[in-house]
Amino acid sequence: MNDRERLLTYYLAPLRLPLPRNLCVNATLRCDGHCGHCGIWRQPAGPEFAPADLARALAAPFFQRIETAWITGGEPTLRPDFDAVAAAMAGALSGLTTLGVATNALDPDRVEKRVRAMLTAAGPGRKVFTQISADGVGPVHDRARHCPGAFAAVQETLKRLERLRRDGAPLDLGLNCVIQPANLDGLDELFNFAKSRNLLLTFNVALVTDQVYRNRDRAEALTLDDAGRARAATFLAAIALQSPPALAYHYRIMQAVLSGRPRPRRCLTLYSTVNINADGTLIPCPASSDLFPRNALTEDMAALWKSVEARELRARVRRELCPGCMLSCSLGDSMPFSEWLAGGWDGPAGGRRAWLARRGGRHA
Ligand code: SF4
Ligand code: SF4
Repeated sequence: MNDRERLLTYYLAPLRLPLPRNLCVNATLRCDGHCGHCGIWRQPAGPEFAPADLARALAAPFFQRIETAWITGGEPTLRPDFDAVAAAMAGALSGLTTLGVATNALDPDRVEKRVRAMLTAAGPGRKVFTQISADGVGPVHDRARHCPGAFAAVQETLKRLERLRRDGAPLDLGLNCVIQPANLDGLDELFNFAKSRNLLLTFNVALVTDQVYRNRDRAEALTLDDAGRARAATFLAAIALQSPPALAYHYRIMQAVLSGRPRPRRCLTLYSTVNINADGTLIPCPASSDLFPRNALTEDMAALWKSVEARELRARVRRELCPGCMLSCSLGDSMPFSEWLAGGWDGPAGGRRAWLARRGGRHA
């Protein structure tokens, strides 16, 4: 997607519903992490779709404009049939250009094996993107993740994947940090760590939700107080000056919301992205309390996408959730005129890296 398409999407999508460009598949809700900001690991994982059912559903014409597909969780690499899930997605999606995985990187051996399988599944001409959760450097990350040794595992995983990349694998690497009271002191250090390794780093503020991350019971510990919001806003203002254009735009949006102003961007995620949960049900928007009780693997998605139900949900997200939301879901899929006038996101400074950054908000 280029700047012109992003601009058109921003203004025309609500008038003429496009087909989705992004797919996010929560392959499992199992997790070997114990993150303080996430309740997934405290709850029963529930049923998981079969790769053959996923392949069958994704082969429908409705999914053939998907360019970017992510395998997430939970910790998706825990699925013993992970390779078959990756193959199902790469095989069924004819328009796919990037196959991504979001991982906590707690098991470098396992992650390396899964990424190698994704490279094989993706095949020639496509990229694989690995996004690793990192909430700080060293003990800051270990504390935020409630897991001693977690940052050492991140470093080992990075070392292995960077080696793969040096050997010529079409692999992009990035980090995602969830800003929360527990890591406010370590944000600068993490930013400098990523910069020194030339890694794309995205920041999002912890989302309190009874869906996906299931952490509403920990709202108090996760919510930034006034001083914390001010510190986070100051930090984001500083790094926006050193970030690719799309991320700088995202950080300005976060600053606005942190400062008590409404989000100055419409969220068009429900026009561009399909999120499928491990049991096949649709996840409409991580900030919404309502699950869309429909199954993406068995229903006619083309009809569902255009249904009155889906239209009402889009309107509700726009009206009720979007104005206070700081996540970056589908960031790279649409762009307001002000960003176009400021020079857009294509080109060496923005371009591909910015486009890939759109995944930033989806793995806690
Ligand atoms: S944030 Fe990710 S790694 Fe942490 S418990 Fe939740 S799913 Fe697992
Ligand atoms: S950016 Fe916010 S409002 Fe938009 S889909 Fe994501 S969580 Fe929902």
